[in-house]
Amino acid sequence: MTASDETIAESDLTIIAQEVRGCQLCPLHQGRTRAVPGEGPPDAKIMFIGEGPGYHEDRQGRPFVGPSGQFLDELLAMAGLKRSDVFIANVVKCRPPQNRDPQPEEVSTCTKNYLFRQIDAINPRVIVTLGRFSMALFLPGEKISRIHGQPRASHGRLIVPMLHPAAALHQPQNRPLIEADFQQLPAILANAEEQAAQPAAPVKPDDEPPLEQLSLF
Ligand code: SF4
Repeated sequence: MTASDETIAESDLTIIAQEVRGCQLCPLHQGRTRAVPGEGPPDAKIMFIGEGPGYHEDRQGRPFVGPSGQFLDELLAMAGLKRSDVFIANVVKCRPPQNRDPQPEEVSTCTKNYLFRQIDAINPRVIVTLGRFSMALFLPGEKISRIHGQPRASHGRLIVPMLHPAAALHQPQNRPLIEADFQQLPAILANAEEQAAQPAAPVKPDDEPPLEQLSLF
């Protein structure tokens, strides 16, 4: 990303964040304290996408700041990364009541209006999905228990599906799995950088549709 591209991306992300903070496009706005647009550098090479804000995130307006966030920080350190290196966002930007699953219409509205625009602005080398809702955006029909940690190409992007950090906090047997997956990230990113440096393959007219056209569920 050139300095000019970075400035454009930063400006786009600022506009998106402002829109998110005032958004009333789906019913989730009714119960939120603060919307959580996401945060990180506009030129992040890795983007993490979780499910939605929880109690602490809703209070602070920032992603992954509760216990799951503390564990995410530990996982990032295992991969040699810091928060300031990565962009962190969620599928839905407002907390679902009682932490219920987001509804398909809520996911569709929020991703179409905000998340996919954030991805376009940042253009990350690697997208790490945290949990099944995030994975379903890019790899519908897959089971996270089967493919976690395995990089997949989807819609022109490299997707690495991973368990949600909360899954390891609630079920300790998941902890070694998610830790092992994070430890692979430096090699996956290095490989993605190498691929990106090579000449692009010609795009066929019948290539996969853009993300906006995906049926999410
Ligand atoms: S969840 Fe997304 S679409 Fe729904 S109100 Fe919040 S920002 Fe808007």
